[in-house]
Amino acid sequence: MTDAVTSTPGTPPIIRMEGVNKWYDSFQVLTDIDLSVRAGERIVICGPSGSGKSTLIRCINRLEAVQKGRIEVDGIDLTAGGKNVDAVRAEVGMVFQQFNLFPHLTILENCTLAPMRSRGMGRAEAEEVAMKYLTRVRIPEQAHKHPSQLSGGQQQRVAIARALCMAPKVMLFDEPTSALDPEMVKEVLDTMIALAEDGMTMLCVTHEMGFARSVADRVIFMADGKILEQAPPAEFFGNPQHEKTRQFLGQIL
Ligand code: ADP
Ligand code: MG
Repeated sequence: MTDAVTSTPGTPPIIRMEGVNKWYDSFQVLTDIDLSVRAGERIVICGPSGSGKSTLIRCINRLEAVQKGRIEVDGIDLTAGGKNVDAVRAEVGMVFQQFNLFPHLTILENCTLAPMRSRGMGRAEAEEVAMKYLTRVRIPEQAHKHPSQLSGGQQQRVAIARALCMAPKVMLFDEPTSALDPEMVKEVLDTMIALAEDGMTMLCVTHEMGFARSVADRVIFMADGKILEQAPPAEFFGNPQHEKTRQFLGQIL
């Protein structure tokens, strides 16, 4: 296995998971997860449905708690709970398959809510920041509409802008294009590529292998709650080590 962190001396990891194990009742969903991510790294996580990909990334902002092991984000120990959870959530943005925008709020209000509530930002500044990111995802003209008036691709770009308004250090994506009509996938991937080019640290659960090839520094393959292998994309796609990886790639490529 390649460890991109230890091979980059002097760069402390921004995410460090050590010996992480998690159960849902008696069902073990994550087994002995060790994962370090350095600032600016782009990670793609893939694997069969039910392998624990969503659970793994949801542990990084404590949407899920773990029973064993240690998770640190930017030096903050998440497994200690309490205030640390709020501190980490402020640093980690998340984009979901189903967008999760607030339907009763306008696009602009969706983007200003968290900065005003949890960062104590004034409305004028929050709106300025929101317009900056809505412009960056190329939909400033939609600011005063409601989510239901936008296409799926536009809603997902709003979800990305909304996360960016909190100035996160890490962005987590959980199958951000899986719920989109095919013609809208590219506009969302293009937004993610632009974010990667800006140097954002990104963990993306996705089966968009074109994106993985062109953007990822490292591709991680999960099966049955374990990280089975990880490698830079050329190596991962060119020479997969595990039979399960080969089977998976055979099905999706
Ligand atoms: P993936 O994202 O790779 O499809 P998930 O992390 O969503 O996998 O789920 C991994 C396994 O954990 C699946 O078997 C799923 O049914 C189970 N699981 C997920 N969430 C829960 C939950 N809240 N309670 C019980 N089991 C769950
Ligand atoms: Mg999932």
